[in-house]
Amino acid sequence: MPQLIIAANWKMNTTTAEAATLLDGLKSGLPVSGVTSIVCPPFISLQLAQQALAGTGIALGAQDMHAVTSGAYTGAVSVTMVAELCSHVLLGHSERRHVFGETDESVNAKVLSALAAGLKPIVCVGETLGDRESGRAGEVVTRQLNAALSGVAEADMTVMAYEPVWAIGTGRAASVDDAQEMAALVRRELSTLFGPEAASDIPILYGGSVNADNVADYMAMADVNGALVGGASLDADIFTCLTNNAASP
Ligand code: PEP
Repeated sequence: MPQLIIAANWKMNTTTAEAATLLDGLKSGLPVSGVTSIVCPPFISLQLAQQALAGTGIALGAQDMHAVTSGAYTGAVSVTMVAELCSHVLLGHSERRHVFGETDESVNAKVLSALAAGLKPIVCVGETLGDRESGRAGEVVTRQLNAALSGVAEADMTVMAYEPVWAIGTGRAASVDDAQEMAALVRRELSTLFGPEAASDIPILYGGSVNADNVADYMAMADVNGALVGGASLDADIFTCLTNNAASP
């Protein structure tokens, strides 16, 4: 059974001063026993976050990375730079796919590069509302998962996140039954790729309008092992309360 993970995606929020204040607040309540906390601030705050979180047991993640280690990629942040500071990296987040045009192929290149650098990828998959309404949610998530993990030999470093696009930042969270159904599908696909034993150890997070009031309901689902949290991660008290509620429903 994977350990419970509650990951915070700050997205493009917080100045460095605001990040420092938020980290201070998080350190007073986290980590919570039995829960791995991962904080993913903007790139510009990763170094101060690494210093602030040293010795706390709170893990640090980046929100993206470039698959190539260095070179002429103006504005990009490489896998090597991220690996210097972080243990985790979000890859294939729907905002990267839909706003920045990331493809299954580029997500796969990043996953392979992250693993080679010793980074744990949090691989995000999820269907749009159109996909769901046309009955294609399972097909889309299956395609994204298999593409992202193509060429991955062992998945013990990998975390999966099922995040329906229509639930992210909308306040319209997926029902617990839908989240479980899709997490179970993710688990089945992982089992086909890596075998049932390895698949049972891979954490599968649900993301999409998770808050302190609904988190425990998701954590009670058999194939949901944590949450990826956007909006509700930007307030230290709310995120700490959410984490406590996840640990003790
Ligand atoms: C996210 O950014 O991955 C996310 C799930 O956002 P929110 O919790 O705000 O829906």
